[in-house]
Amino acid sequence: MSARVLVVDDIPTNVKLLEARLTAEYYDVLCAYSGQEALDICATSQVDIILLDVMMPGMDGFETCRRLKANPATHHIPVVMVTALDQPSDRITGLEAGADEFLTKPPDDMQLLARVKSLVRLKMLTDELRSRAQTGRDMAVEDAQLAMGNINADNGRILVVDDSGRGAERLKNYLVPSHRVDVISDPTSVAMQAADGDYEVVLVSMDLVDFDPLRVCSQLRTLEQTRSVPIILVADQGDRAKVVRGLELGVNDFIVRPVERHELLARVRTQIRRQRYSRELRESVTNTLALAILDELTGLYNRRYFERHAALMLQKATEQGRHLAMVMLDIDFFKPVNDTYGHDVGDLVLKEFAERLKRSIRGVDLACRYGGEEFVILMPDANHSQAHNIAERVRAAIAEMPFEVGNGLKIKVTVSVGVALNERFGDTPETLLKRADVALYRAKEMGRNQVVFDAA
Ligand code: GH3
Ligand code: MG
Ligand code: MG
Repeated sequence: MSARVLVVDDIPTNVKLLEARLTAEYYDVLCAYSGQEALDICATSQVDIILLDVMMPGMDGFETCRRLKANPATHHIPVVMVTALDQPSDRITGLEAGADEFLTKPPDDMQLLARVKSLVRLKMLTDELRSRAQTGRDMAVEDAQLAMGNINADNGRILVVDDSGRGAERLKNYLVPSHRVDVISDPTSVAMQAADGDYEVVLVSMDLVDFDPLRVCSQLRTLEQTRSVPIILVADQGDRAKVVRGLELGVNDFIVRPVERHELLARVRTQIRRQRYSRELRESVTNTLALAILDELTGLYNRRYFERHAALMLQKATEQGRHLAMVMLDIDFFKPVNDTYGHDVGDLVLKEFAERLKRSIRGVDLACRYGGEEFVILMPDANHSQAHNIAERVRAAIAEMPFEVGNGLKIKVTVSVGVALNERFGDTPETLLKRADVALYRAKEMGRNQVVFDAA
């Protein structure tokens, strides 16, 4: 899928120029000739990245950027401000307006494509996470968006790799007021130190004596712990070919000497913000999703999820006149297991129980830990005999072999099972569950380790 770039500039020849270059790289290009037009386009079509001119009559680029970033529907779209070369203060204003990147006018090909490519990559990742959150729970989306709003890019952990004392010192001085900086002057030890250091950005000087800076980069990209840490190359004008190779290796950005303090800080901040942003997003999506729907001990669905989903499944079955079986299970004499072997062993038994349960049911069945040593399975499209077969298979899988819970300990476990079908007019999840529970109680009474149907 090709990414869609929106080019915004009031001067048509500038637009044409960028359009031609980007189209040649197979980007899908949209054009706007004013800030307002750019906002309108973003409101109606899917845009992956925006190249935004600063100087425009009416609404200038800063204001346009501010509005894009203030709108929850567009604030995740990366914005590259196209600024005049001799206006370093523009960068500060741009940063304050929320810009993600800068290009100087007229942008050279390599810079243009490198910036666009790396921002598009980031956008794809966040889009994917956003959509996972979307398909998952609303809660996760809210959490993820909260995380986005709270990202700050201060106090980063930065590693500078530079074997010339003075160069390293200068970079460090630029960064230190806002960040924590370590310097490595021996490039051969980078991989080791970076793996321990929990760094958020690594700056690699390209004029190392007797050591290929790109080797540093490829080592960082190979190691598990540093694979995703952003790398910025500090290059000289003559390093262009190597910078391109670096970008292909997965380097995130570069800066050309003489290093200008604001530019360095802006590039570092951008990388830190991205890094923290995608990490937070990832964590909040996985955590919230898992917390929201899974039982921690067994990995089965939790009761809350079950209750929501049971209502949906029953409604669907009722509307379509299809079967639905509600199966309730309770481990027999579980209290003595805890009392004899301890709570930890009890937990291992519950885990193993859940494993055997999962292996015995069908893919469409929904298994959940209802609480303690009680479990529920919802079986769509299961009539009396199918429900009986599956329930019986579960019972047998538990009883047939003792549970091995470490230290050669083997414990015999059995389970009692009650089943109810959606045969009654006006059944609700609660009435079904109630009848399954009554059947379960009878299974206990009749001697345990058996499957009993409710007498509907
Ligand atoms: P019955 O055959 O009648 O079901 O006997 P039982 O001993 O299984 O029934 P009871 O309801 O009296 O005991 C359930 C026990 O399950 C009590 C509680 O300590 C234990 N239990 C509940 N949740 C957990 C848990 O998360 N971990 C462990 N290890 N034990 C749990
Ligand atoms: Mg119980
Ligand atoms: Mg029990």
